[in-house]
Amino acid sequence: MKHLFSLIAIAALLASCGTTSSPSPSVSAPSSWGNLSVTNAIVPKGKHGRWKTRSMSPRYITIHATENFSAAGNARAHANMLLKGSLKGPHNSLGYIIWHFTIDDHSIHQSLPCNEQGQHADYDGEGNRSSIGIEMCENAGNSRKVTLDRTAKFTALLMKQYGIPISNIVPHQHWRMIRYDDKRDLGHKTCPHFLVKGGESDPAWQAFLAKVSGYRSQL
Ligand SMILES: [Zn+2]
Repeated sequence: MKHLFSLIAIAALLASCGTTSSPSPSVSAPSSWGNLSVTNAIVPKGKHGRWKTRSMSPRYITIHATENFSAAGNARAHANMLLKGSLKGPHNSLGYIIWHFTIDDHSIHQSLPCNEQGQHADYDGEGNRSSIGIEMCENAGNSRKVTLDRTAKFTALLMKQYGIPISNIVPHQHWRMIRYDDKRDLGHKTCPHFLVKGGESDPAWQAFLAKVSGYRSQL
């Protein structure tokens, strides 16, 4: 049964991330990884954060944390906010905030196809132009440890699917944020805050990367 779940998870990942113009590579994960199935919550084309679409070939994966500590702030809730266009981006070129995946300790929701640019990292910078954005949930009652582990596994799957090296798995903090509208330089955000307080050399971030590498080597 577990194996079946994994197959479904990978099929869902490929179906949701693949482009119709090119066949998806086959990615298989060990059944011991558990259920990483993706809930399709992709914002309809032409609406809200997808009122305008810009194509992307993903070369990086950017890791975030929501900093939403309310008990209701799980992955589904964040996906619903994006579906409703609730998160505005008044200083970016889109007018909305949008990213690709939201992960909590039991679910993964996809809001944007992997071959489209989001607005989650650095306005019109390279982070948004070239990275898949993943938000980790921090709602009360959600296990950070499990969420980190699931995020590491899912990141490894995306790395394999898109041929992204470990050197291109970055925290949001990696990208310098210069606002689109007034060019104000906001510098580098401490995100995910619990991994990068000491920058990218923080032992917590390095431990996360080691976890991702370990999972990637199993694929
Ligand atoms: Zn962030």
